[in-house]
Amino acid sequence: MKPSDYEAARLTVRLGAIQANYRLCQRLAGPAAVSGVVKADAYGCGLAPVAAALAEAGCDTYFVARLEEGIALRKAQPAARIFVLDGAAPDTVPALISNALTPVLNSLAEVAGWSAAASAVKQDLEAAIHIDTGMSRLGLPAEELSLLAKDWKKRLDGIRVVLWMSHLACADDPAAKMNALQLDRFRTALAMLPSAPASFASSGGVLLGKDYAFDMVRPGIGLYGGNVQNAQTNPFQVAAVLEGRVLQLRRIGAGESVGYGATFRAKRPTVLATVALGYADGLMSAIGNRGHAAVAGLRAPIAGRVSMDLTTLDVTGIDGLSTDSYAEYFGDTISLEEAAKAADTAAYEILTSLTPRVPRHYQGASP
Ligand SMILES: *Cc1c(COP(=O)(O)O)cnc(C)c1O
Repeated sequence: MKPSDYEAARLTVRLGAIQANYRLCQRLAGPAAVSGVVKADAYGCGLAPVAAALAEAGCDTYFVARLEEGIALRKAQPAARIFVLDGAAPDTVPALISNALTPVLNSLAEVAGWSAAASAVKQDLEAAIHIDTGMSRLGLPAEELSLLAKDWKKRLDGIRVVLWMSHLACADDPAAKMNALQLDRFRTALAMLPSAPASFASSGGVLLGKDYAFDMVRPGIGLYGGNVQNAQTNPFQVAAVLEGRVLQLRRIGAGESVGYGATFRAKRPTVLATVALGYADGLMSAIGNRGHAAVAGLRAPIAGRVSMDLTTLDVTGIDGLSTDSYAEYFGDTISLEEAAKAADTAAYEILTSLTPRVPRHYQGASP
């Protein structure tokens, strides 16, 4: 960090915390391997630096969603195994192969296409195969699973399956019946298929215990500090802190209004801090008049609407603020979950909504 340089807003990414969170997954899921889910620019935290920090902690396998994310990661991590969750649409097959990306095949049509590609390049091609156990989003549905199980030798010709995988719908809720149901379906599927390593658990799944770990777990949000199961004490460390600079402090009298639409009206003499973070930085406008930021470790309500470049905080009674101060929108005082709740969304969206206007700062990866 360079605190002397003027900066309107910043996202501080604690690479050491990401590494600690990765190691926590290793302890919880071991002996299963731990991959790193780095889709959507590593949940807004920055693909290349996050991948490098994970590699330093021992990670050699990553998941991205898009082909383009895989191509970018391949440049940063030449030796890693990179799974592409989107699959292998016919027009992506040449780029998948030339960038040594491993698709997660999501249908029998994709399995057939990948097998044909293997025959065309005259070499076996690696793939993961996704079995749908209840998300109904991606992966082979039950009918396709039966067909594959019936003649997998033929259908998998030229394909080296390096991972059977499925994805949990309710891993954030340890009490959800859906978890055990999906676990049962996944085990049944694996018993029908040729043997290969298996992967089932996202961050929530890691917290569900070793039954869910299989051979490799796929944490995302936990690495970035999400309190996945809303525990009293978050087992994951805060890894991302969003701050905006106080541009101006002002006093308004009772009855004066704040911001567009004059939606906040002061009930008493009020001190306001105008902060350089708005929806063009990726703040959710839903937090207007609802959310909080923190200044000097103290919580201050957001007064009025979020505008494009600014938000206004009610800092009445908070001493010592100046135009050098920064307000935290999430981090050590305001959790990602609190920020998400105020916006009626999830921690994931709070992170992935941050736009390129917010500079990312990296705090050292330390062992
Ligand atoms: C995004 C994703 C993950 C990571 O989930 P988290 O809840 O962020 O840990 C794992 N597996 C799949 C298939 C995903 O799409």
